Amino acid sequence: MRKELLAFLSVVLLISGCGGNTENPGAETAADPQKQYRWRMVTTWPKNFPGMGMAPERIADRVREMSNGRLDITVYGAGEVVPALETFEAVSSGTVQMGHGAAYYWRGSVPAAQFFTAVPFGLSAQEMNGWLLHGGGMALWEELYARYNLVPMVGGNTGVQMAGWFNKEINSLADLKGIKMRIPGLGGEVFEAAGGTAVNIPAGEIFTSLQTGVIDAAEWVGPFNDLVLGFHQVAKYYYYPGWQEPGPNLEMIVNQRAYDSLPKDLQIILRTAAEAINNDVLSEYTARNNRALSELVDVHQVQVRRLPDDVLAALKAISDERVQALVGDDPLARKIYESYESYRQGVMNYSELSERAFLNARANLEGYEP
Ligand code: CA
Repeated sequence: MRKELLAFLSVVLLISGCGGNTENPGAETAADPQKQYRWRMVTTWPKNFPGMGMAPERIADRVREMSNGRLDITVYGAGEVVPALETFEAVSSGTVQMGHGAAYYWRGSVPAAQFFTAVPFGLSAQEMNGWLLHGGGMALWEELYARYNLVPMVGGNTGVQMAGWFNKEINSLADLKGIKMRIPGLGGEVFEAAGGTAVNIPAGEIFTSLQTGVIDAAEWVGPFNDLVLGFHQVAKYYYYPGWQEPGPNLEMIVNQRAYDSLPKDLQIILRTAAEAINNDVLSEYTARNNRALSELVDVHQVQVRRLPDDVLAALKAISDERVQALVGDDPLARKIYESYESYRQGVMNYSELSERAFLNARANLEGYEP
């Protein structure tokens, strides 16, 4: 009996001892557990920009604290190492180890990346987190980014955004024609198909572009961020709802080779910090948006307007076409779309009788009219 037990235990030990190294032989011996890593993270945001720009700073702080300084990340704002929209390339090529931004900024080279930020009329923040972290989305994102030597992680969510700032009223789809607007991602494609011109301009340049007439309209985020950038000084009407970005997910990207060089505990710390700050960003927007909206309306006399239902319906029809065009005949893009869409259909079903039913009931009881 005893002999058999020992034999059994030695087999168990052999299996468990080898298990960790099956995929990556030598990984455990290569990483010195006490080694200190000094990394650089570039971002698409101005340095210390409130809200999303603080996410990379907080991730770096959290990682430093949790790792007792073993992983020390210095965060650079847009333009300090590379321009905002070269973040993806800088991390992919290994110029820096990490980046923070939004996946839809890379749609020119990675069209399917847009599913991992926002799809017009797509998922809310809560639903998006559900898809990524418990609905199969993250594995697909990893599969897509592996082609670029990148490991993606969640990096914050703003919640439903505003539709944007305009200097004329939008009463029909025809009113969008000829407008040049800062609106990135799929929302921008839809806006173009509706007769406008879409441009992507990083945060730090939007105000001046509006002021000088380079663009006529702009969407950025919502009251908390838009107040900081001062758009109310150069645009009169503030439209909702943010059909183009109902729950945009921000991303933290890590160069694959840099990630593989870390011991396992630092890899987990990195991911845990990203997930913690993902939630922190959404909480901050939730807490601050209404205070900022009140200031915009009461102090700065901003005119808040709702996009008419027929305009939203037209934008939805165009969105569906653009999503199909984006998927095209790319097998991975189709796989991502099918996962996203089947999850969306399912989650919508329950959102209707949970979030929406509750919000409607509460609004009715409070006599609230938007
Ligand atoms: Ca936006």
